[in-house]
Amino acid sequence: MLYGAIEAGGTKFVCAVGNEKFKIIERVSFPTETPEKTMSSVVDFFNKFDNVKTIGIGSFGPIDVKKDSKTYGFITSTPKLAWENFNFVGYLKEQLNNISVVWTTDVNAACYGEYIAGYGKGLSNVVYYTIGTGIGGGALLDGRFIEGFSHPEMGHATVRRHPEDTFIGNCPYHDDCLEGLAAGPAIENRTGVKGQNLPQEDSSWDIEAYYIAQCAYNTTLLFSPQIIIFGGGVMKQKHLRKKVQEQFDKLINGYVKYPDLSTYIVTPKLGDDAGITGCLALAKDSYLKA
Ligand code: ADP
Ligand code: ZN
Repeated sequence: MLYGAIEAGGTKFVCAVGNEKFKIIERVSFPTETPEKTMSSVVDFFNKFDNVKTIGIGSFGPIDVKKDSKTYGFITSTPKLAWENFNFVGYLKEQLNNISVVWTTDVNAACYGEYIAGYGKGLSNVVYYTIGTGIGGGALLDGRFIEGFSHPEMGHATVRRHPEDTFIGNCPYHDDCLEGLAAGPAIENRTGVKGQNLPQEDSSWDIEAYYIAQCAYNTTLLFSPQIIIFGGGVMKQKHLRKKVQEQFDKLINGYVKYPDLSTYIVTPKLGDDAGITGCLALAKDSYLKA
């Protein structure tokens, strides 16, 4: 018996099958192109296995996660126009013999991965952010994703501008939102250099840390989680976590007694596998519950 996982990112897709211990048996990755092209690669991959029971999907979005909605399982208002209003779940079920699926956001899936098998293991209130091409967040309370009319969009929360930051921001929807000022493309547009090539000494890392620290600050005050996990490409800058922790402490200014920073503000234990592991875990949980 195997479980399936699809990490549907705006840049690339990862598909995997794994066992009940989330050991990955086979995995493929390909760039995100048109839905037709990309989804046929997805279907080809899963058609190789006849013992996959359920597939967990963590998708870029925004997506429709409300089960009673007419457009449940769709990608909705994404700036990736070819994917706008694409019926992801419907297409997959149609192509894969009505296979059962779990459908959630990419960041919820990664949050779940860390909750089941990473630094969130044994905790009940876990928040996960990715700082990559975009910024997204997911939050779990007692094993359930926080959602209301839809899923959260924590990456677009408003941040206070760093006094030395003259960069106009990248988000087409908002002035001064976290994603627009702190995602990978914002770093690149602010400095002219991609984050991975920006020297550790560059002062714009303090600007970056200031925004991520505000995110941790707001998350702390809003949810009082037991852990905040920051993943994504930008967090591969090892020095950044400490800068974020220091600025976070300044922002809190003694008001809240939060957990030890070495376990409170962290990068994912599972690294780049948080999302795919979360998808496998969601698939397994759903199969066992059914
Ligand atoms: P995606 O969000 O597309 O799934 P990533 O999480 O890798 O993928 O995010 C890509 C963004 O992160 C790009 O803007 C890239 O410049 C930036 N990035 C990737 N690696 C690093 C790194 N080591 N240091 C800083 N920024 C990075
Ligand atoms: Zn925004």
